[in-house]
Amino acid sequence: MISIIGAGPAGSYLGYLLSKNNIPCRIIEQKREIGIPEQCTGLISRNLEELIPISWVKKSIQNSVNGAVISCGKSSFEISAGQPKAYVFDRTLFDQAVAERADKAGCRIMLGKKYISHKAGDNINVKLSSGNSEKIMQASSLVGADGPHSSVARQSGLYGKRIFWTGTQVILRTKKPFFEKDRVYVFLDRRYSDGFFAWTVPLDEDHAKVGLASYTNPAGYLRRLLKEKFHDHEVKDRSAGIIPVYRKIPVQNKAKNTFLIGDAAMQVKATSGGGVVNGMLAAKELLKAIKSGDMDYEKRIGFIRRNLWLHLRLRKKLNSMDDNMKESLLRTLNDSDVKKVLRKKGDMDFPKRFIFDVLLAKPGLLRFIL
Ligand SMILES: Cc1cc2nc3c(=O)[nH]c(=O)nc-3n(C[C@H](O)[C@H](O)[C@H](O)COP(=O)(O)OP(=O)(O)OC[C@H]3O[C@@H](n4cnc5c(N)ncnc54)[C@H](O)[C@@H]3O)c2cc1C
Repeated sequence: MISIIGAGPAGSYLGYLLSKNNIPCRIIEQKREIGIPEQCTGLISRNLEELIPISWVKKSIQNSVNGAVISCGKSSFEISAGQPKAYVFDRTLFDQAVAERADKAGCRIMLGKKYISHKAGDNINVKLSSGNSEKIMQASSLVGADGPHSSVARQSGLYGKRIFWTGTQVILRTKKPFFEKDRVYVFLDRRYSDGFFAWTVPLDEDHAKVGLASYTNPAGYLRRLLKEKFHDHEVKDRSAGIIPVYRKIPVQNKAKNTFLIGDAAMQVKATSGGGVVNGMLAAKELLKAIKSGDMDYEKRIGFIRRNLWLHLRLRKKLNSMDDNMKESLLRTLNDSDVKKVLRKKGDMDFPKRFIFDVLLAKPGLLRFIL
């Protein structure tokens, strides 16, 4: 019996995949209700559809977007694919829908049970708590899908050194929207974030998820963003959460019976903070490792690591620029050949799919990368 800690998208998807392959598993989730509170913008690219049928999560779609407007100071760069490139999800409903698939496939989900620690022997003894009571459960393997502060990673010596951005977001209604419903808006200005960016992700013509992530003072930056960009607005909801900065760490122990996936393994894109697609991709690779019997999950995620490394490189490059340089970068990107490539090949998850073609179309961009 494989014990998965955490019923986020990574854990629930793994539970679904294992059960579908007749590999016994259970999911242990500390919350009594999956996905509450929502701590995410829920912007997920259509690459998701290579992992699950969209019908699974259709009810959680709030909007779909065709393109993006990226700005800094007085410069902005706008790109539209002319067709939906990403969905905006209600993450609570999304997480519940994926968990429901795991449950239906036969993976038992134990809610309100918190993983405390484990002891490895022939079998793994997993200590759980529920209210005042504690319980030991046996498992053949243990999977930490328990988010960025992963207790499984700490207990297994896989935690490594972690750095986080703090994300903070409001859902608001504005009487004077500056946005169009089918675009996401990204603000690279240093005055709205230290080390990341601010965003506006529309839900409809006058509602949007507005937020930012930052190394420091997220609440102060959000106050400034709202004051400067939304003159007449009403805040409907607030949330906050942390985003791990990707770093290569071991994601399985030496005995090959304890594994990390998703935010627990810091499998998050450093360009955008998005972690849902990569976490689910990692779950798929872990299934393959378990199914094959070689348990070599570490080897199988090489392509995920290389991709996350590229996102990190791009993030570091962007963070090394001052606002003048970012403005200059946006002006250089405003080129019809660049836009042509991006419309055809642009991909928010896999920059490798378009970055070389963009550089070929506009070699002048090299000075921002080298
Ligand atoms: C403000 C913000 C905006 C974001 N926007 C996006 C976005 O637009 N698109 C995107 O792709 N990503 C986004 N992310 C990142 C995304 O939310 C995460 O990458 C994603 O949720 C990771 O999924 P996961 O399954 O690995 O972990 P999680 O979703 O964190 O799930 C972990 C689960 O484990 C449970 N758990 C933790 N500890 C224990 C324990 N000891 N015992 C039992 N259960 C436990 C938790 O309760 C939780 O349910 C955003 C994050 C933030 C903070």
